[in-house]
Amino acid sequence: MSVTKVGVVSLGCSKNLVDTEVMLGHLDGAGFAFVANAEEADVLVVNTCGFIESAREESIRAILDAAALKKDGRLKRLVVAGCMVQRYRAELQAELAGEVDAFVGLDELDRIVGAAGAVASDLPIRRTPKAGPDPSRYLYSSRTPRRLATSPWTAFVKIAEGCDHTCSFCAIPAFRGAFRSRGVEDIAAEVERLARGGVREVNLIAQDSSHYGRDRDDREGLPGLLRRLDGIEGLRWIRVHYLYPNTVTDRLVEAMAELPRVVPYVDMPLQHAHPDTLRRMRRGGSAATHLALIDRFRRAMPDAAMRTTLIVGFPGETEGEFEALRSFVEEARFDHLGVFTYSHEESTGAFASVDDVPAEIKALRRDVLMETQQRIAFLRNETRVGAEVDVLVEGAHDDTDDLLVGRMPTQAPDVDGLVLINDGFVTDEGAGDPRLLPHARPGALARVLLTETAGYDLVGRIVGAA
Ligand code: SF4
Repeated sequence: MSVTKVGVVSLGCSKNLVDTEVMLGHLDGAGFAFVANAEEADVLVVNTCGFIESAREESIRAILDAAALKKDGRLKRLVVAGCMVQRYRAELQAELAGEVDAFVGLDELDRIVGAAGAVASDLPIRRTPKAGPDPSRYLYSSRTPRRLATSPWTAFVKIAEGCDHTCSFCAIPAFRGAFRSRGVEDIAAEVERLARGGVREVNLIAQDSSHYGRDRDDREGLPGLLRRLDGIEGLRWIRVHYLYPNTVTDRLVEAMAELPRVVPYVDMPLQHAHPDTLRRMRRGGSAATHLALIDRFRRAMPDAAMRTTLIVGFPGETEGEFEALRSFVEEARFDHLGVFTYSHEESTGAFASVDDVPAEIKALRRDVLMETQQRIAFLRNETRVGAEVDVLVEGAHDDTDDLLVGRMPTQAPDVDGLVLINDGFVTDEGAGDPRLLPHARPGALARVLLTETAGYDLVGRIVGAA
């Protein structure tokens, strides 16, 4: 019997990517082969994002593209998984019964083999679980099979699942369930295995990473986890994503500043800066409290990059509230900023309010913030020219072999800029047989002198191994 080929389309955030990797691990263990091109697959898994309307539209487009392949006879089986299934299972089953063969929710990732395997084995597929999915239970562990979909030197590690906050714009707690942390030793076992397999950078993720451990009465919390991971052999960079301002402690700031492998990178989604908007968002705080927190980090880690995400057009956001947000962006001087326009979502606290900021005003406010930020980000990049930094080499530039690309500690995968390396990476340059130096190979760490900026990117030359 020929091996069944599986393709995967993974949409949404890094948390969804880890779920994709767990499904790939289960499929790998069951002997499926993988193909990068959806058109070559026998079975296609679309792992959806159900966070906001634009993400759902993208997910539906991906499902319909896959359904077209099935109609052509090229694809034999279509499986839809992920957040959108967890959130809208009944609606999806009603609308897509003709196109989709199986739905897999967030808490039933281990069903993926049965869902995909019917091509090879004609297993009966349970289309609806007998009991409804319970998103408050599932949490993967170091024993869960997992196959990385990232570059082999970088991995995302989910340290907790779910969220106990009640931010009024967010539906995540309704479908990802209550906050639950993995144990320190379980995470360490996974990171040790990843490091043995060649991973040099781990990106720790959760809905609220700074809350880590509190649900388990783990008094050491995230600082304790970072101290444990910092000693793992072979690992070079530990990056922490998604801190929540109210759960950041002095001990955490100290640990991040002190531990050599924890990179100087502060990723703290703040959402807004006007106290009235933040109150309506059920988050609290103000520009003043945000700036004080940013200052705490900058005093402890002067070279740290600051990243945040903001929402514009939240119900009731006045011109004055938006102007306060714009001034905050000027003052905070973030290195990296993402701006979302508010999406009116059912199962959220804000859904009872009127979505009263017109779409064109939302878009305008987003553009104003992004233009403000562009100027700041370019200036922040200028201040790094002349510095020597460690760079994790990612490989040749997509457009030319004359450039390598990599990332320094202040640049996270996928969301931030890059370092473009234009010199110092080959032996025998010009002698007809140039070869990449060992420290310039993909996955290696090089020491790079930054020589100029290129918008959101920086340019530099390799001066040695890191
Ligand atoms: S936005 Fe708020 S409620 Fe939603 S996941 Fe983040 S912290 Fe939790």
